[in-house]
Amino acid sequence: RIVVVGSLNADLTIYCDRLPQPGETVHGNGFAVNPGGKSANQAVAAARLGGHVSLVGAVGEDPNGAMLEASVAGAGVDVSHVRTSSEPTGVAVIAVDARGENNIIISAGANGTLSPADVAGAADVLDGAAVVSLCLEVSTETVLAAAQAGHDAGATVLLNLSPYAEIPAALAGLADVLLVNAHEAAQFLGTPVPGANASVADWDGVRDQFARHGIQQVLMTLGSEGSVVLDSLAPAASRVTLVQATAVAAVDTTGAGDAFTGAVAVRLAAGDALADAAAFASVAAALATTRKGTQAAYPVAADVERRLRS
Ligand code: ADP
Repeated sequence: RIVVVGSLNADLTIYCDRLPQPGETVHGNGFAVNPGGKSANQAVAAARLGGHVSLVGAVGEDPNGAMLEASVAGAGVDVSHVRTSSEPTGVAVIAVDARGENNIIISAGANGTLSPADVAGAADVLDGAAVVSLCLEVSTETVLAAAQAGHDAGATVLLNLSPYAEIPAALAGLADVLLVNAHEAAQFLGTPVPGANASVADWDGVRDQFARHGIQQVLMTLGSEGSVVLDSLAPAASRVTLVQATAVAAVDTTGAGDAFTGAVAVRLAAGDALADAAAFASVAAALATTRKGTQAAYPVAADVERRLRS
């Protein structure tokens, strides 16, 4: 079983020609409300790929909360540990311009009420977890409690360092696999990271830096350039694996990182090595970019397998 502990957000998106400057008002040319939140997205991505997934989270008693629960449950995710709160459902207010550039403001709402007590209340699912997937859209103390519970259950703890925040050393120590994009990696390490065409020796240096921070296994996504697996626990010859991006005609890369994380969770729960999980996730995330939207755009396992065979 995969247990995802974290956020559900309603994504309120306005499309516009250009993003407004401070104090300025611009006309939009379309508005959409979609299910989102990194954890809800990751849970849906994993379930659509065939994973047995439970989501632990909180929504408000409002239409956005009902919409989110319906979307997540509709993908086959167990929502028995998604509770309601007197706070409103979390929202992300998103503006997207004609070039696809965006501005995002998140209001945590009910997500901000998710606490270590909720983690304790989900012991029935956490005790049997093979993978526990976490991100930073809920409080650090909740993430820490979930990481500890996952660790105690013998699960692989996957920590997506997004949106970036400094984390306590105890949390870094409980993360079996850190999932970051290049931007988050640079913030975590305090130094820029090389691009996709860097040498293995360069990546080996980055791997060493993470190891010095207590992180032995890292999956770094590089957008359309693919991803890199930095594994200090592997034999010396296979500590760095570059994973090519899967060539697709991308129309919407929103939520690609969450599709990637959900796919990694599914493959790690099935017993794959990290580099194999990343190769599968590269296909799943690429397919997710070929359709508009986030949760509704995520592929099912058969889509990924067909692409892997072709
Ligand atoms: P995030 O959205 O978290 O910043 P990335 O942009 O790094 O994450 O994308 C996550 C993964 O999605 C990448 O590692 C890659 O496998 C896949 N991906 C993203 N954009 C594309 C694209 N244009 N074409 C193919 N794959 C993509």
